[in-house]
Amino acid sequence: MSDPEALFAVQRRLAPARRSGFDRVARLAALDRLRAAVLAHRADIEAALQADFSKHPTETLLTEIIPVLQEISHARRHLRGWMRVRRVWPSLTMLGASGRIVPQPKGVALIIAPWNFPLNLALGPLVSALAAGCSVVLKPSEMTPATSALLARMLAETFPPDLVAVVEGGPEVATRLLALPFDHIFFTGSPAVGRIVMAAAAKTLASVTLELGGKSPVIVGPEANIAKAAKWLAWGKFFNAGQTCIAPDHVFVHASVAAALEEALRAEILRMYGGNPASSPALAKLVSTRHWQRLRGLIDGALAGGARLAEGGGGDEAARSMAPVILTGTTDNMQISKEEIFGPVLPLIPYDALEPVLERINGGDKPLALYVFGNKALADRVTAQTASGSVGVNLTVMPFIHPNLPFGGIGSSGLGAAHGYEGFRAFSHEKPVLVNRSLAMPLLFPPYGLRVRRLAEVLLRLVR
Ligand code: NAD
Repeated sequence: MSDPEALFAVQRRLAPARRSGFDRVARLAALDRLRAAVLAHRADIEAALQADFSKHPTETLLTEIIPVLQEISHARRHLRGWMRVRRVWPSLTMLGASGRIVPQPKGVALIIAPWNFPLNLALGPLVSALAAGCSVVLKPSEMTPATSALLARMLAETFPPDLVAVVEGGPEVATRLLALPFDHIFFTGSPAVGRIVMAAAAKTLASVTLELGGKSPVIVGPEANIAKAAKWLAWGKFFNAGQTCIAPDHVFVHASVAAALEEALRAEILRMYGGNPASSPALAKLVSTRHWQRLRGLIDGALAGGARLAEGGGGDEAARSMAPVILTGTTDNMQISKEEIFGPVLPLIPYDALEPVLERINGGDKPLALYVFGNKALADRVTAQTASGSVGVNLTVMPFIHPNLPFGGIGSSGLGAAHGYEGFRAFSHEKPVLVNRSLAMPLLFPPYGLRVRRLAEVLLRLVR
């Protein structure tokens, strides 16, 4: 059964029973089943990612399989604490009542996943949803058909469709799903589609988590360890062929170390991907010819406008391969400086003073990630004076992987947070329950005579 409306109806019907019936033991069992399925399909997953965009099996293990397994084991370890009913202290005016917060599953959740980490970004939120006790309709991306088909098969073998169902398809299917009154929508993808999702959610008043993207800048200060910075930048930018939401988009580098960084990046590219990177099996391909052409257009536009190709340029449209590219001399009016690059192209932008760099960052959309290489003073200043989903200091990408850090954007890079406890909270309603034992409040009920007035005056003194 993959009719979206029928699947939703079945899950909706079971939601009330699941609220109490899908207890901790059952949720742990579901997480165990998911872990077993991922482990059992490890080779299939690596093959699917290879088929979809030539992702190296080791990179698939590191960036698709291991993060999901980590998310599962973290949730298993902490589920008891996350699900605990928390008593709250009474205020002076609440003496005589006992308050508690009861986390409950929101109900039926919709997860819409992107193609760039098609397993990780589909199953990661699924772990949080199951931990929270929700049932899920999952729509993977149509851009990675092998992984989407595998997800559909794997999850159908693992869960009944009334708990987890996969609906394959593109925007038309997503549109049908978004018309249904889900209790929560967890969307990962572009800011443009994020707006469509939020507009649809406004009709049903579903709560949303939006994990979006944008241009994530890097600042390399004069005191940075250039060799280490180049290593982290080359890895963070070029794994998955740069098709990573938190990849460094462009680098502001202090002019005193710009030449050294360019040289060190070149050396890292050679070390990671060899002398002919476009045909290196370690370098993933672009997901489609359209994406290849878009990137080629960005590079050509920059070069036509006076930018310099400092490294790379090789690649083949038919094979969708693209060697890592380093550009210098890009300017603000170029298209490459305006849209999320989302490919293996890294502009280096030298700076002398930090202030204009911060102004530039603060003048644009709030980034999903911001990276700083340098000393503590620089990192503290940048952290304090900019807004971004996360900050990474002397590293790239890793804030995504830390299980105790919330992951999410701000403004156009996203709404809400994922991973670990924050992921659990995204799919939970923290329901307040207040029980009256001997509240004095009835003394303040009408009629409003002198006695009530006097008591109200006393109350005023207590609360101010
Ligand atoms: P996308 O927005 O094109 O697609 C994401 C999902 O939305 C897919 O499942 C797709 O089928 C669906 N979709 C597409 N058009 C739709 C429409 N009109 N209505 C409803 N649904 C629609 O994104 P993408 O190209 O798959 O992924 C790349 C983008 O995602 C980048 O911007 C990247 O930064 C962002 N991203 C963010 C994160 C994060 O965690 N914040 C992670 C990965 C990717």
